[in-house]
Amino acid sequence: MSDTIFDRILAGEIPADKVYEDQSVLAFRDIQPQAPVHVLVIPKKRMDRFEHLHEWSPEETGRFFQAVSRVAEELGLTGKGYRVVVNNGSDGGQEVEYLHAHILGGRSLSWPPG
Ligand code: 5GP
Repeated sequence: MSDTIFDRILAGEIPADKVYEDQSVLAFRDIQPQAPVHVLVIPKKRMDRFEHLHEWSPEETGRFFQAVSRVAEELGLTGKGYRVVVNNGSDGGQEVEYLHAHILGGRSLSWPPG
């Protein structure tokens, strides 16, 4: 798998506005925010797509999604609510081939997505 922009952020080769980091994940603000709060959470263990998540153990998968929930809480979004989005593949609108969860919040979000 070739290096993506998120591999390079994780490696510290290019800067990012980091909001959270632990042993398993790194979270940073999206460069083109679609809401007042728009943060991306990436696992430190490389994974290209959500569709390959079955390659991980339940513990690894759980750690990732629990971290997403924790980041949203640390961003002050718990209570009023927020959206977690994982785009998968071309029809899903995935541009960066490195698994990431978008956390969007800070305003009321419409549904359905385009
Ligand atoms: P995807 O469409 O793959 O689900 O989302 C990729 C996201 O990464 C987009 O929302 C895009 O704005 C964001 N992004 C792309 N390049 C960079 C970058 O260099 N830095 C940051 N912080 N976000 C980026």
